[in-house]
Amino acid sequence: MNMKDTSEIFGENVFSLSVMKARLPKETFKEVKAAIDNGKRLSDEAASVVANEMKQWAIEKGATHYTHWFQPMTGYTSEKHDSFVNPTDDGNIILRFSGKALTQGEPDASSFPSGGLRATFEARGYTAWDPTSYAFIKEGVLCIPTAFCSYGGEALDKKIPLLRSMEALNKQALRVLKLFGNEDVSSVKTTVGPEQEYFLIDEEGYKARRDLIYTGRTLFGAVPPKGQQMEDHYFGAIKPRVQAFMKDLNDELWKLGILATTEHNEVAPSQHELAPIFTTTNIATDHNQLTMEIMKKVAQKHGLVCLLHEKPFAGVNGSGKHNNWSMSTDTGANLLEPGETPYENAQFLLILTAVIKAVDDYQDMLRISVASAGNDHRLGANEAPPAVISIFLGSELTEILEAIVKDEPYGAKEKELLKVGVHVLPKFPKDTTDRNRTSPFAFTGNKFEFRMLGSAASVALPNTVLNTAVAESLKQFADKLEGASDFTTALHDLIKEEITAHQRIIFNGNGYDDAWIEEAEKRGLSNLRTLPDAVKHYMDDKNVALFTSHKVYSEIEMQSRHEVFLEKYTKLIDIEAKTMLEMAKQDILPAVNAYSSELASSTENVFAQETLDEITADLTSAYGSYKALKAAVEKSDEIEDLVEKADFFKDEILKDMTELRTSCDKLEEETAAEYWPFPTYGDLLFAVR
Ligand code: ADP
Ligand code: MG
Repeated sequence: MNMKDTSEIFGENVFSLSVMKARLPKETFKEVKAAIDNGKRLSDEAASVVANEMKQWAIEKGATHYTHWFQPMTGYTSEKHDSFVNPTDDGNIILRFSGKALTQGEPDASSFPSGGLRATFEARGYTAWDPTSYAFIKEGVLCIPTAFCSYGGEALDKKIPLLRSMEALNKQALRVLKLFGNEDVSSVKTTVGPEQEYFLIDEEGYKARRDLIYTGRTLFGAVPPKGQQMEDHYFGAIKPRVQAFMKDLNDELWKLGILATTEHNEVAPSQHELAPIFTTTNIATDHNQLTMEIMKKVAQKHGLVCLLHEKPFAGVNGSGKHNNWSMSTDTGANLLEPGETPYENAQFLLILTAVIKAVDDYQDMLRISVASAGNDHRLGANEAPPAVISIFLGSELTEILEAIVKDEPYGAKEKELLKVGVHVLPKFPKDTTDRNRTSPFAFTGNKFEFRMLGSAASVALPNTVLNTAVAESLKQFADKLEGASDFTTALHDLIKEEITAHQRIIFNGNGYDDAWIEEAEKRGLSNLRTLPDAVKHYMDDKNVALFTSHKVYSEIEMQSRHEVFLEKYTKLIDIEAKTMLEMAKQDILPAVNAYSSELASSTENVFAQETLDEITADLTSAYGSYKALKAAVEKSDEIEDLVEKADFFKDEILKDMTELRTSCDKLEEETAAEYWPFPTYGDLLFAVR
């Protein structure tokens, strides 16, 4: 048995900075470091040296193949394996991997969604090494994190826009930091720590259900007598099989330099959570993609299946991903950390204000950034944050901002008015007691936690939006403050003005409360309940202006993403609907029919007679729902326009699916267990020990 300890295995499969430092010639390492820190392009010579050393390292670790590992717009990761082996003329082989193979690849772009970009540009796509993200070995394959673009340079992936958004934020944050005299800071990077929720179920149950296999969620299933109402799972001990899975998972993640720290059960039975230590956003994004992939693989080894879908089971909580986000300087300062001196505090308040303004100005884009067919089942379903975006700041910080807005003294002891940039902020406890779990966007002491993300999605887009929106606030602030004759007064006025303008987005109460939704409407906050509703705003002028002005997306790149959103939504629901039709027609209705026949043969007793009557009525209505859904699916095929099609899926297909499910779930409760064709919720949720 392998008994290496954590420090030994941590990062052992990563071609990290320290490995590069140890193995590369000094000059080459310097170039790589400049590429990482300042985005400098690697020279061809340096690329060759790095490639050679990377290959050597990978071969020593047993790798035989390499791949450019990238993140197309599907939200999954892609790889195409090439062997290091090259035949030579004399029939021998040499192991080759050139600088060009490292920095450039040409996967066929036509097999990835391009949202129309394909029509205008040629099918070839290019991948290029992103040196800010380290290469790693996964299952004998050297994986090189790459960006993926079209021949014309349009981003075909999620990584390029994310890197561009980080650059936009860096640029504007540096302007603002200069105003506060931070001359030693040369870069600002955003940091992310995504907490990942997931379900673990037994493989046997999974294999017996086509809905889980095809769609990752149950499309049928009556609620069992016991769900999560006892709340005994969250605090309960982790079951031995799950414990073994978690241990194995941690080892695998550590090898890839992903430091998973906390793991615990979640609210729903069979639900768990993993939290990594935060890191730079693009690396955190790579790591989260890898984490999801490895969770699935490790589960398989344990005879388990890891469900990452946002809503695998109706009636119990779904799974999300909490995106902890902040900004850090290369000198090690967290910009969302309240400071000790008036100046530090003033800087903190300005940065805080920038985030508040960004979230208010781009509520719709933030909502869009977490939109998916799966996440629509969670947001607003009284278990996850509502579809309305608001910010939780905690009472102390809110009072401080109110005092600034109203020009009133803060706190009982304070005699003087609180003037930003002059006074030390009153100390407020970092971890305010009511850690509001219902807020979609919460300040948690020195970072924000964006809680609307679905468990299955890549964190790239939400962070691209967040970074760009905050970059825009900072830009506007820098534009105003750079020319100010009296900096302190201008700063105070700016914060006062901006908080006044954006106060509506701050809400410290219970986000799950219906009263809040009404209140939010009065405040004019947007409530975009579904993906089609939200995505209608994607191409709004203000959003296009935001992304194009910061050079995060071109208008064409946005159009393509708009299409991919709608395409993915309709395709997913189409698969779900067809899976339901198949299960109803081939599994459920025949099973119920067989049971009816048995009942019909023994109608002398009341039980059989009454059950048969009930079942006959429900079978009729289930079959009616089946036919209605079938007709709707056929009709959807004829709709060409994507926006119209998405609306049809949202308004018609989903409604018909719900009706079919309701009648079939009723039949499940009426049918003898031995007749039911697949495992029930009870079987699935309580099988793992
Ligand atoms: P919880 O929210 O569960 O109480 P923590 O506050 O410890 O837990 O942190 C949750 C997550 O936030 C962890 O993944 C952690 O790495 C991440 N995190 C902490 N500080 C930062 C930061 N400055 N930037 C981004 N993520 C952070
Ligand atoms: Mg959290």
